[in-house]
Amino acid sequence: MAPEPEPPFLPYGRQSLDEDDIAAVVAVLRGDWLTTGPAVERFEAALCAQTGAQHAVAVNSGTAALHVAYFGAGLGPGDELVTSPLTFAATASMALHLGAKVRFADVEPDTGNLDPAAAAAAVSPATRAVVGIDYAGHPADWNALRDVANRVDARLLADAAHSLGATYQGKQVGLLADATATSFHPVKPITTAEGGALLSDDPELARRAAQFRSHGMVRDAEHFRDKDPGPWHYEIQALGLNYRLPDVLCALGVSQLTKLDAFVARRRAIAATYLTQLAPLEGLELPHPRADVESGWHIFPLRVREAARRRPFFEALRARGLGVQVHYEPVHLQPYYLDLGFRPGDCPVAEDYTARALSLPLFPSMSDADVARVIETLGEVSAELL
Ligand SMILES: *Cc1c(COP(=O)(O)O)cnc(C)c1O
Repeated sequence: MAPEPEPPFLPYGRQSLDEDDIAAVVAVLRGDWLTTGPAVERFEAALCAQTGAQHAVAVNSGTAALHVAYFGAGLGPGDELVTSPLTFAATASMALHLGAKVRFADVEPDTGNLDPAAAAAAVSPATRAVVGIDYAGHPADWNALRDVANRVDARLLADAAHSLGATYQGKQVGLLADATATSFHPVKPITTAEGGALLSDDPELARRAAQFRSHGMVRDAEHFRDKDPGPWHYEIQALGLNYRLPDVLCALGVSQLTKLDAFVARRRAIAATYLTQLAPLEGLELPHPRADVESGWHIFPLRVREAARRRPFFEALRARGLGVQVHYEPVHLQPYYLDLGFRPGDCPVAEDYTARALSLPLFPSMSDADVARVIETLGEVSAELL
């Protein structure tokens, strides 16, 4: 008898691209501008229209978006940034690149987001920025974080790599902090292959971010130091980088953005199915979305009740073709950060969260049969191992 065919591997996330996305890219490839042309402004205008933010600065990764946001907020040597360790390393490392120090504050046990009380204990007069992460697409408690930042006159910044399209108290992500950084990596809410953007209502912050995106270069005569320059003149006024997002990718972004609402709706429907169908599995703790939030459900983070069972459970799910992941090993426990002096026990809630965490496959193009397969496999494997 022939062996049963292996079921296909179901990743935790992947892009959703259609023929019209491809056509949008091809049209730019046939035109005059591959980069720094009209598609950049079209994409930035579309991001503003979608979120309600007044300024958007497109850059070539979410990491770059954090870097330009921190530069825009004035972060530099002598400053501190307070954030949570339950995130991708870039949230912290971009602050270190600017010569600032990072203080990690612990997370809320229900959402995995920066805990306002822990952030309040971590801020000081040296704090220049408080950075919340909308972990898994679930917005942080932005009103409470705003109070914490105001107390020390710091900027409130958002790492919204997971949460474009989500809302907090009816307000769109992009309007909840002084500046918001998002990512367009293929697993994220929309994709430009690599890419990201800064959103802000602060014109000066956005201007500085755009300057940093392109070598710290100024081309606007109003901001020149040389008051009688020739028509060829530009000025390098800061130590920037080349973080520009090409027109080719901005065109993909414009096309993807028209589908954001549909993508988020599909993610919410899948998450709702998981929440009801997995509720009977006693060995698992499901996510706890708050009532004042509409999550974007970038990931569906489960926790096994006993940390010691996580590894065999994870391995058994992988063996059955489910591309489960762990989001994240806490940043303060990465070797580079341990070398800076951070220690296990610094953020016990985040450490416990990670030790039990596992993210399920969740992306808009999953079929109902894919969703049913995930639920059925979890039922079987948890009966066996949890
Ligand atoms: C993806 C991600 C980033 C970095 O985005 P890139 O586009 O991969 O550079 C930063 N923070 C969080 C929370 C992310 O998930």
